[in-house]
Amino acid sequence: MPLTELNHTGTGFYRLNVGSFECVVISDGGFNFPPPAFGTNAPEGSVEQILTRNQLPTTHVAVQLHCLLVNTGQNLVLIDTGLGPNVFPGDHAVSGRLLATLAYLGINREEIDTVIFTHGHPDHVGGASSGGAPNFPHAQHYISQTDWDFWSVHPGNIDDPFLDFMLTVGQNNLQPLRNQIQLITQETEIVPGIRMINAPGHTMGHMGVLIASGDDRLLHIADTVVQYIVALENPDWHLAADMDPDLAVQTRRKLLSRASGEGIRVFGDHFPFPGIGHVIYNQARDNWHFLPTG
Ligand SMILES: [Zn+2]
Repeated sequence: MPLTELNHTGTGFYRLNVGSFECVVISDGGFNFPPPAFGTNAPEGSVEQILTRNQLPTTHVAVQLHCLLVNTGQNLVLIDTGLGPNVFPGDHAVSGRLLATLAYLGINREEIDTVIFTHGHPDHVGGASSGGAPNFPHAQHYISQTDWDFWSVHPGNIDDPFLDFMLTVGQNNLQPLRNQIQLITQETEIVPGIRMINAPGHTMGHMGVLIASGDDRLLHIADTVVQYIVALENPDWHLAADMDPDLAVQTRRKLLSRASGEGIRVFGDHFPFPGIGHVIYNQARDNWHFLPTG
């Protein structure tokens, strides 16, 4: 197996502050997708061209995956739960490092009082439950009503193995939370300083998270951007996983414009670890690039 393919990234974490909030980016691992999935409306071979130009392999795209833990002083908030023990169809990458890393950091899962899901995809909800029981038993969980309705119930008889996998992981991880989950129908401040914001398109109820303390802010853009080079350089390209690709493009441009225009640091959960930095707008090209500061 080529060393560039993601399989086991080990335990990784990165600490940062947002104002007085103490944050930890936790690597959950990653997964591999085929290059054409990152530009379904792009000219054939153009995703591979960008990968080649950036010294990346063209056989696959290795996508990293991180969770974000925020200690506000009042609340201990986990944003997304990683892939858990699940493996995407056709892939062999091992993720699910979240729980081991929390233990390594000395953080008791029972102390986490708030879990926010940006959306219902398996790499975001897959570590929420184990064997039908919540992994964060004392936490109030939050997800958009729209994503709960779509991803928490497998309707049966799904021919597409990929969608079947996603719905199976969604149901297995979300249903155990049904008595401790609040369904969000609009932008909402979940705890003081942490606000879920609308970012529809990737999924219909996909949401970002704005973390603010004092004058400092961090914008968690969730899956608005997945492969950071390809999607920032070509913000109008469609991702195979986007449920409404045109809406996803609108949302991508809106969030990136806000972050670059207001100089807000971003957190990209699929960006190279730790996924913290600025997105810089290039007016001539009408696109962005990522400047890591983490
Ligand atoms: Zn994702």
